[in-house]
Amino acid sequence: MIIVNRKDKENEREKVVTVALHTLGCKVNACESEKIEASLKEAGFLIVPFSSSADVYIVNTCSVTNIADRKSRQLLHRAKKLNPDALIIAAGCYVNTRGREEVTADPLVDLAFSNEEKTGICAFLKERFSNRLSSEGAADTSLFSLEHTRVFLKVQDGCDMFCSYCVIPYARGRIKSIPEAELIREVTSLASHGYREFILTGIHLSSYGKDLPEGKTDLMTLIRSLSGISGVRRLRLGSLEPGIITEDFARFLSEIPALCPHFHLSLQSGSDSVLKRMNRKYDTKRYAESVKLLRQYFDDPAITTDVIVGFPGESDTEFEETVSFLKRIGFYETHVFQYSRRAGTAADRMPGQLSSGVKAEREKVLLRMTEERRKAYADSRIGKDAEVLFEENNEGYTKEYIRVRCMNPDAVNGSILYGTITGRENNRLMSFEPRQL
Ligand code: SF4
Repeated sequence: MIIVNRKDKENEREKVVTVALHTLGCKVNACESEKIEASLKEAGFLIVPFSSSADVYIVNTCSVTNIADRKSRQLLHRAKKLNPDALIIAAGCYVNTRGREEVTADPLVDLAFSNEEKTGICAFLKERFSNRLSSEGAADTSLFSLEHTRVFLKVQDGCDMFCSYCVIPYARGRIKSIPEAELIREVTSLASHGYREFILTGIHLSSYGKDLPEGKTDLMTLIRSLSGISGVRRLRLGSLEPGIITEDFARFLSEIPALCPHFHLSLQSGSDSVLKRMNRKYDTKRYAESVKLLRQYFDDPAITTDVIVGFPGESDTEFEETVSFLKRIGFYETHVFQYSRRAGTAADRMPGQLSSGVKAEREKVLLRMTEERRKAYADSRIGKDAEVLFEENNEGYTKEYIRVRCMNPDAVNGSILYGTITGRENNRLMSFEPRQL
């Protein structure tokens, strides 16, 4: 047995290069951070919590709202306070929207990598710290761990939709889909390492394949291929454009046993005039048809959405239209956002910009509604069968994305159990009784 004393451990730690990484924003950003982290571990860097002292801090930023911009800046500044000698790196959307010069004009930020460049962070750091990196890599070089059961899988980047309020097409560029063969390889590897659920994610998931050679692939083809991979027990879809839900698409999805009946259809507004000003490509009639189709082919699926309140010129009547549309659809969850002006977008130049007071008031109304609906949907499952993928502390998610705790303490994390939802534990947690263990 090798005994390592405390002093040795401290010396050991001094040699390794520590990197702390913080991610803001969307699931695509989270996927990209995971990849950066994996490549850093493989190269021999030690990943440490963002709250500790590190040699390098990377903030994978977001720029979707003014608040996101501010948070990105605050995190970069906090990093410098934690270790004034550290190398501070800003990466991602904030760099794309503000430009490298502006970001690095901040004396506390050393380097900036755009979305296109951030895969190069590891190579850059390897070069920079070559004298301190061991050729054997860090102790923990594994990308995959059996403690993890669910993984976000980035299948595309970019967006061509140009909604009038959104900077993403400028920050992320046009659609770029990851070839199907590459995704099949990635999922096969992840499944063989114990991952069970794959959440297909993209900036505009519904556009998957549109940039690839015609007839080659689309979202349906990709779902079919991935669902056939051994070990893939669940496929969950990220945000979908309502227009993708045709009868053929809904029927196709319902025939894939691994497909989770949880659909996030972006709404943004329940008022047709606001949708038009937002340059969304559907109206409420088309949206309601999509929901009807999903409910026709799935038994009480979980339908979730996003709504923006306080869009320029949103009148009381238009807001009321949104309130009644949300009630009519009966969502499981609604993510509510206050409209945020983004320089360079069409909405920023629109008349009728609303005060923050009005936006906050409208947000409050919708948040109250969504809280009630969320509970009502989860309560409606009490007494019903459920399949649960357990993650940690005997807690896990059903296919509808209801969080449950297993009453039997022997539930195995990483396993899938069948049973019944027996009641409510608290606001966010339901109780679950497995049929057999
Ligand atoms: S669909 Fe609209 S809101 Fe979504 S990323 Fe594209 S432009 Fe932005």
